[in-house]
Amino acid sequence: MFENLLEHIDRLIEKRPASRDALVSYRELVGLMDQVAPQQQKIHVEGRLKDVKQEEGFPLFSRNDLPLDFEASSTLMSRFLDHLAATKREDVGGLKKALDQLKSDWGWANRLFRAVLEKDDENLTRIGKETDLDPKALQFLAQLSLKPSLQALRNSISEEIDKGGWDHGYCPLCGSQPNMAYFDKTGKRHLHCELCGEEWPHPRLNCPFCRAEEQKSLGYFHSEQEEGFRVDFCRKCNRYIKTVDKRIVEDAAPMEVEYLATIHLDVIASKHGFK
Ligand SMILES: [Zn+2]
Ligand SMILES: [Zn+2]
Repeated sequence: MFENLLEHIDRLIEKRPASRDALVSYRELVGLMDQVAPQQQKIHVEGRLKDVKQEEGFPLFSRNDLPLDFEASSTLMSRFLDHLAATKREDVGGLKKALDQLKSDWGWANRLFRAVLEKDDENLTRIGKETDLDPKALQFLAQLSLKPSLQALRNSISEEIDKGGWDHGYCPLCGSQPNMAYFDKTGKRHLHCELCGEEWPHPRLNCPFCRAEEQKSLGYFHSEQEEGFRVDFCRKCNRYIKTVDKRIVEDAAPMEVEYLATIHLDVIASKHGFK
């Protein structure tokens, strides 16, 4: 299921030395993902309900009620922790603690998944303190553990969503914000969901986060390292989004990989005060 992703990661590990470390770690975890096969219930959203939701700007699900397989995700989380706890990472102590927690109480992973899905930072920080792990690392691992299940959900339902008719800066499937954008071959902009990976078209001159449209609020700068990458920012809400121009980058990887392979752009955006 994830072979294609691994091929792209391998290619970018060679091509983008600045992101090598992040990509190598990511590759190891993606390599473990095939070890679980999440159950996906057949989901049918009644046509009228779907249309009404879409018209009113409601995503098909909210982050709190996504029908995900927590059991398979917990199994994957334990594989990740097992693997990482045997490496030479600085946070090995915390990883072992987390693995012990998970093995003694299967509900621990569910609490972590809930905190991540509900964006409950307080709870996430608490779980981080209990295990001596950086909440950001926990969030990353939890989100990656949920990925096969999110992917199965998308495979089962994505075609039912009329993405062309979706006029919002948040994901039509799960309501999350985008973390990456790309221009397709015709120059049209698409956004990529930070959680489920769904993609949908969005006007270029419109901030996905605050909907600002005024020219004076919107701007961008290009990557100096590689052609075809830029950061679009908004002076009104101070947010930014990294963009891959597929007219220039012909062999762009899936957006979740491009996101990790462009960390240098986050550093520059943050230096300019964008978040
Ligand atoms: Zn989504
Ligand atoms: Zn904005």
